[in-house]
Amino acid sequence: MLTQNPHDIWTKFLEQIEERCSATEYANWIAPIKLVEASDEGLVLEVPNVFVQEYLLDNYKRDLLTIVPLKPNGELALSFVIAEQKRAPIPTPSPAPVAPVAPGREVKFNPAYTFDHFIEGPANQFVKSAAFGVANRPGRSYNPLFIHGGVGLGKTHLLHAIGHYIQEHHKKLRIQCITTEGFINDLVDNLRNKSMDQMKKYYRSLDVLLVDDIQFLQNRLNFEEEFCNTFESLINQNKQIIITSDKPPGQLKLSERMIARMEWGLVANVGVPDLETRVAILQHKAEQKGLRIPHKVAFLIAEHIFNNVRQLEGAINRLSAYCRMMGLDVTEEVAEKSLSELFQPSPQKRISVESILKSVSTLFEVRVSDLKGDSRTKEVAFPRQVAMYLAKELINESLIKLASYFGGKTHSTLLHAWKKVAARLEKDETLRQQIHMARRNLEN
Ligand code: ADP
Ligand code: MG
Repeated sequence: MLTQNPHDIWTKFLEQIEERCSATEYANWIAPIKLVEASDEGLVLEVPNVFVQEYLLDNYKRDLLTIVPLKPNGELALSFVIAEQKRAPIPTPSPAPVAPVAPGREVKFNPAYTFDHFIEGPANQFVKSAAFGVANRPGRSYNPLFIHGGVGLGKTHLLHAIGHYIQEHHKKLRIQCITTEGFINDLVDNLRNKSMDQMKKYYRSLDVLLVDDIQFLQNRLNFEEEFCNTFESLINQNKQIIITSDKPPGQLKLSERMIARMEWGLVANVGVPDLETRVAILQHKAEQKGLRIPHKVAFLIAEHIFNNVRQLEGAINRLSAYCRMMGLDVTEEVAEKSLSELFQPSPQKRISVESILKSVSTLFEVRVSDLKGDSRTKEVAFPRQVAMYLAKELINESLIKLASYFGGKTHSTLLHAWKKVAARLEKDETLRQQIHMARRNLEN
């Protein structure tokens, strides 16, 4: 097969690809690949990271078939080595100040948002360890790290915690933290001032880029493309990217290319903290403000404010101000009086899988036993998926546990069902209404 000089074949192969893809794509993805060995046994390519390897296989497999021999089992006789020793040693000073930090480019983190002040519980333990892992070994653990979750659950806190940690422990790394709005404004300004090159140089010279609230990139196509280019350029140099979002990548209205990139590394969810964690957060926040609150009072507040940590903080501020002004001790009575407006109407009603099954069985006119069974007929399978969707949405328990209520299904079946229903909800108005009705019945 390889009768010609393998390096000539490889060069020709690169030329063919270069003609077909954009210059950025080529520079980021193809140019860094090197042929290190070629024989009748196959080829060995050196790539800067596993993403480049996946990219090549995903996009150019057919082309590879024309130059790479096949193994007896029909697979490409192709292997990869990661250019470990050539990675930018981390921590390391950037070679030369390519783009000096322009005024206004100083990085600022909220001093209160550190790992020490982040209270862990079952709903956020995983994401916190991922964040800590990345902060410890930027560019060398999960890249990108994608943190998603509802409002006020600590996404920005974790992002800044990573920033603080890196600033303290990897002093030489160039780090920047931007909100997506900030990035867009920066782009607009630089376009206007015809200084795009400078901006590109600046972002692409960073070692760590923290991006808050990527959801604001939705429906902003031109900006998305520039962001994606920056992203690819950094990742290819093993520079660390951390992104936060209110939704997981797959639910963002962004290009497939962007979504795929964001799913490359690790996607981690910040969940709603459980009661004990909320109590611990409240006590921690109160302590920070020099307020002592008895456990009972913290418990009362945590029971009534349950889905947003920012509101818990608001409650502490208000209670503290109220007690100071009125010269009162912090008691349950005072808390109830001063915080009644903040308290959510009824403490979260305990919704069980059984009640979901009943509600779905009524809604779709199927039997509960069928929902728990194995039948795959459409009439049963879809309502079962809806019930699984509702269980994941409404019940704060592990997927494994939830799945077990459905006649011992696996957590991946439940997750698959959730994804399927979530995707269909985007387009199916009737289903949206049905689910809305089921939720209302269950929650009231
Ligand atoms: P998000 O970015 O997810 O909307 P933030 O990171 O702004 O939320 O968090 C809102 C507030 O709640 C912040 O003051 C943050 O310090 C606090 N907070 C959230 N989660 C925690 C936690 N686990 N421990 C301590 N404080 C938290
Ligand atoms: Mg935020």
